[in-house]
Amino acid sequence: MSIADNLIKYKTEIEAQGVCLVAVSKYQSVAVIQEAYQAGQRVFGENLVQEMVEKADQLPQDISWHLIGHLQSNKVKYIAGFVSLIESVDSLKLLKEINKQAAKHKRVIDCLLQIYIADEDTKFGLAFDEAVELLRDEEFQSMKNIRIVGLMGIASNTDNEKIIKAEFNELKVLFSGIKQSFFKNDDCFNVLSMGMTSDYKIAIAEGSNMVRVGSGIFGKRVIKHWKLAEK
Ligand SMILES: *Cc1c(COP(=O)(O)O)cnc(C)c1O
Repeated sequence: MSIADNLIKYKTEIEAQGVCLVAVSKYQSVAVIQEAYQAGQRVFGENLVQEMVEKADQLPQDISWHLIGHLQSNKVKYIAGFVSLIESVDSLKLLKEINKQAAKHKRVIDCLLQIYIADEDTKFGLAFDEAVELLRDEEFQSMKNIRIVGLMGIASNTDNEKIIKAEFNELKVLFSGIKQSFFKNDDCFNVLSMGMTSDYKIAIAEGSNMVRVGSGIFGKRVIKHWKLAEK
């Protein structure tokens, strides 16, 4: 199947359930993204700041770019002018910098707190209690140029569906708790981003309303440096 066919298949299935599809285009060429764009996709997810900046420069303005990879504070300035959602906020320090850079652009930048749910040491994210601590922080509460619109999580990389399901369920429960405690009267806090190619069905069943699908749409990522893929 072509990329357009794949895209339409996922988009139709996922959006029919009221879930937002983020097409994860990391390491994929501009031409490939264009194909998905032409097939109707407007939301794309990238892991690396530089890659996202270079691609955004060459692609239509009406694309919503989501940063889904670990973000270093010193790189926020490169995306602050155009990023649509930062899904991978994992510290107060980072939020402070996003707030500062967003102010420079007279914007409010939407963010998700990335929560650590996997049973692995390698994944970034906040522990449950760290997320709560951050939300209670007075300095955080005074930030005018960021808006926390939800949570993001990555399940363990395992074939064991029970484990994946349990991890997504934990995140859903945390999401509901945080909404109740901190965003009760705030309709903007409504995004629960969980699920990728291998586990998006489980994620949706557990309450996800945003899934990040890469290889299912674009095929396997073989080349790590996307510019090589252009050639
Ligand atoms: C790469 C990536 C994805 C997409 O993974 P696939 O398995 O290719 O669908 C989703 N979320 C994050 C945070 C990623 O880094």
